[in-house]
Amino acid sequence: MKKLRIGIIDFITKAPNRSLWARLMHANLAGIMPQVIACWCESLGHEVSLFLYTGIEDLDKEVPIDVDVIFISAFSQSALQAYALSTRYRSDGVITVLGGPHARCYPEDAQKYFDYVLGITDEKLCRNLLQGCAQQRPLGQYLSAPRQPMTLPGVRERWKYISQALVKAPWIKVVPMIGSLGCPYTCSFCIDANQPYQPLEFDVIRDDLRFLLKKFKRPVVSWHDPNFGVKFDDYMETLEEAVPANSVDFIAESSLSILSEPHLKRLQHNGFKAILPGIESWFDMGNKSKTGQRRGMEKLTHVSEHVNTILRYIPYVQTNFVIGLDSDEAPESFELTKRFVDMSPAAFPAYPLLTAFGQAAPINLQYQRQNRVIPFPFHFLNNNHAMNVKPKNYSWPEFYDHLIDLAEYSFSWRSIYNRFRATTSRIPRWMNLMRAVSSEGFGRIKFYRKVRSLLDADRKFRDYFEGETIVLPQFYASIIKKDLGKLWEWLPSGALYHDPNAYLNAELQKENEQRLRA
Ligand code: SF4
Repeated sequence: MKKLRIGIIDFITKAPNRSLWARLMHANLAGIMPQVIACWCESLGHEVSLFLYTGIEDLDKEVPIDVDVIFISAFSQSALQAYALSTRYRSDGVITVLGGPHARCYPEDAQKYFDYVLGITDEKLCRNLLQGCAQQRPLGQYLSAPRQPMTLPGVRERWKYISQALVKAPWIKVVPMIGSLGCPYTCSFCIDANQPYQPLEFDVIRDDLRFLLKKFKRPVVSWHDPNFGVKFDDYMETLEEAVPANSVDFIAESSLSILSEPHLKRLQHNGFKAILPGIESWFDMGNKSKTGQRRGMEKLTHVSEHVNTILRYIPYVQTNFVIGLDSDEAPESFELTKRFVDMSPAAFPAYPLLTAFGQAAPINLQYQRQNRVIPFPFHFLNNNHAMNVKPKNYSWPEFYDHLIDLAEYSFSWRSIYNRFRATTSRIPRWMNLMRAVSSEGFGRIKFYRKVRSLLDADRKFRDYFEGETIVLPQFYASIIKKDLGKLWEWLPSGALYHDPNAYLNAELQKENEQRLRA
């Protein structure tokens, strides 16, 4: 195979951001798959450069140049930057490849702007792509492996790329690891719900942890598993065999059903310092929180006690609630969450807005059938700048009133003080404070208030939310223009708009073709 010069761009944010939080923490969110692709390309003999965009770099000047092929990994929130960069690279004859969640969620749209769009990616797919890669225009090719890879390069193999990212993390340095793909649960809104659960090789995990103990006095490892610890005993035995107890600080996202008290004792023993369980709703998803049929106040009491138990073993807990689910009861859901903030004051509450990410979750078909998906540009699909599903139980003004009330309550000085006092460890205390007063707490309240005022003041703005027009309000267009900076001029015409019902239309077309064949 001809030796290629390959660039890889890992987008972990969507806009320039010089905040303290971004400078301290963004580099710790580097993705695993861009590093994996880098290893695979290198093992094939190609020359690779990987660029991590944390919001501090100049996207216009610092991305890889003089390359034959560029891989871009992006969440939907970074899709417009990715589209603009792809257009610029293509104008120089570079072959462009899109991977990551956006490629999985909106492949039809991405094919308009990239030569290749990747679904599930394994080493064989990567090798075949590079062997025969050529410009694919006007419409790019969609490629996907039949199943997730059984193994991925571990930390030892990815170290060159991990250490490059960690140079950008001046305070805490977090190493990304992964022990499993997919999830056995099927939360309707989740992009991992359709991926079958699959553990990765335990030998690789053991070797990586031993390797890390030689690199750091006390490594910090973040597990990127969608739901860590599903085969709990197997993972704990692996960690216990690999390294002395409590010699590595671990961060993981786990469902409440995994976090029983005996399991918490073992997690604490093995050094787990931060856990992010999803509570999601007071009226649904009882299986993943082990609350069965309990709903409303009964579920709240049970979950709050459980979260307080977790906090006795694990110093940092972030609880996730999906805001705007159809199963929620208005306005009780919001009031119950406020009660939770008081009853479990040390937990940091995160409030992602319900978002239908293209074809990533089956429930999106239902929203599209009901004509409830608003075509907000991808730039705003980050679970907080826009909810792209019309709420079932509220009008938009009511929804924003409740959302603002909840955010103001959760990030009031009273709640911040309570959280600070109730958190016993030093770093978690300051992390909570920083998050509350930065863009995540105060910043979002300001943004939600602006949206709420425009819903009243600007009829066209409201019409957009109601699905009565698809003309993008100036408010959103201006934000995109500012965030893209010089890349704005490379944004392909039409990229601000996408078909919000592309998934449904593709399914209908498949059904039609099947009918015709039958
Ligand atoms: S438990 Fe978590 S990872 Fe699994 S489907 Fe639900 S939200 Fe997704």
